[in-house]
Amino acid sequence: MASLDGFPGEALFNQGFCYTYDDVIFHPGFIDFAADQVDLSTRVSRNVSIRTPMVSSPMDTVTESDMAIAMAEAGGMGFLHYNMAMESQLEHAKIVKSHRPGYVANPAVLRPSATLRDLDELRAARGFSSVCISESGTCGSALLGLVTTRDAELVRDRNTLLSEVMTSVDDLVLGSTEKSAQENEQILLESKRGKLPIVDAKRYLIGLLTRATIKDRLNRPPSGVPSIDKHGRLLCGAAIGTRDADRVRAKYLADAGVDAIILDSSQGDSIYQLEMIKYLKNELPHVDVIAGNVVTQNQARRLLEVGADGLRVGMGSGSICTTQEVCAVGRGQATAVYKVGQIAKEFNVPIIADGGIQNSGHIVKALALGASVAMCGSMFSGTTEAPGQYFYQDGVRVKKYRGMGSLDAMKKGSDSRYLSESGHLKIAQGVSGTVRDKGSVKTMIPYLVHGVKQGFQDLGADSLTKAHQILASGTMTMEARTGAAQREGGIHDMHSYTKVPW
Ligand code: 5GP
Repeated sequence: MASLDGFPGEALFNQGFCYTYDDVIFHPGFIDFAADQVDLSTRVSRNVSIRTPMVSSPMDTVTESDMAIAMAEAGGMGFLHYNMAMESQLEHAKIVKSHRPGYVANPAVLRPSATLRDLDELRAARGFSSVCISESGTCGSALLGLVTTRDAELVRDRNTLLSEVMTSVDDLVLGSTEKSAQENEQILLESKRGKLPIVDAKRYLIGLLTRATIKDRLNRPPSGVPSIDKHGRLLCGAAIGTRDADRVRAKYLADAGVDAIILDSSQGDSIYQLEMIKYLKNELPHVDVIAGNVVTQNQARRLLEVGADGLRVGMGSGSICTTQEVCAVGRGQATAVYKVGQIAKEFNVPIIADGGIQNSGHIVKALALGASVAMCGSMFSGTTEAPGQYFYQDGVRVKKYRGMGSLDAMKKGSDSRYLSESGHLKIAQGVSGTVRDKGSVKTMIPYLVHGVKQGFQDLGADSLTKAHQILASGTMTMEARTGAAQREGGIHDMHSYTKVPW
């Protein structure tokens, strides 16, 4: 009789231990395809499909419109956090839904009645050199002109109106929404100018193309196919809570075109979520509702039975999270993903492996254990697209990254995620700190994607669907690693080395 050579998931995850990603290691499969051929297409929720199985977490130091745009442009998706007023979250949603891939994200726009002083303030806050002038001071209204550094820098009177210094729309070279991004790029290059406002047939401002955007694209590895909705707009998700006010928020977010709503809670198995799912499925049936977080099959089943379109899995595994320490509940993330994945499969609902992802190997593990998507907070924090300013700490360029259950974040309102808004003592379930500058997610994601594809190639799975099939058939074998095996699997016996941060 052949000796036992590794375990299928069903055997490994039924031994009375819970495992983290690092505890588990897969055995290689047979390779008959190139890594580039691996198809990572997947679903975030019942009706929302993407090609890059990564989404950014709804945290206030991770996802606002810049991140959501970058994620969707790279083939993933971002979930806007809701630790801000409803109006601000809606504004971010509208920026994402009106953004055109390949153009400047959220270009600076002012009214003609604004002054050079307004322009100086905007420049100081956002650090750009030109501003488009439109009738209403936003994209989506009639373009009137453009103010560049040259138009504005030598004018002494900063109360001068922008309408007096702008180059009028009639003297501008314009790109058009009726042309492809490549054609517009060609117009800009041939014009020898620095900026090309993009307008629609009514000459309404739709976006801005700059030489810097083109250089930026040429200097990066090619990104994935952008994630778009049926109207050609970037996909965008958003988080809400389960209070009555969140019902109104959900309605406005849906009107703004948000594709999926996450019910953001660290413990999602509650009467509040059940009620909210029923309400949203009734009132807004065209928007997917992702419930959670859950880590057990019982928790998951209750949410699935009332119609959840997706589940967020993970409790206590996040890098900034202290839930397991403070509350003594949670589960090792590899076990949580495998177990919840088994139930979600029965309902044909995808699951999101949320938290604890530190590298491409963890993404491979999350997906191969049954998740359809990996949700990252820490991984995408500290990037150019994450909210917040860089600053120096001990000589290192850093950005803030904090748990939504940290006292810092809860002071701003995120306590409802931890069901503690009515308590008179706020108990932190997360920490607040800093992470290194990691550059742009637009550079990071193509590397991560390729790392994941190589992992799938080693597993012998040429698609995510195939990986889930071999997991279900029991032919994907794996084992738990001892502490020594984990040390051996990491870098060791080096005097010094360099390592990329992802
Ligand atoms: P990371 O990718 O940093 O390891 O984990 C991010 C995930 O941690 C988030 O998507 C969210 O589910 C969870 N999370 C965010 N903030 C907190 C917090 O303060 N406490 C806990 N327990 N979990 C958090």
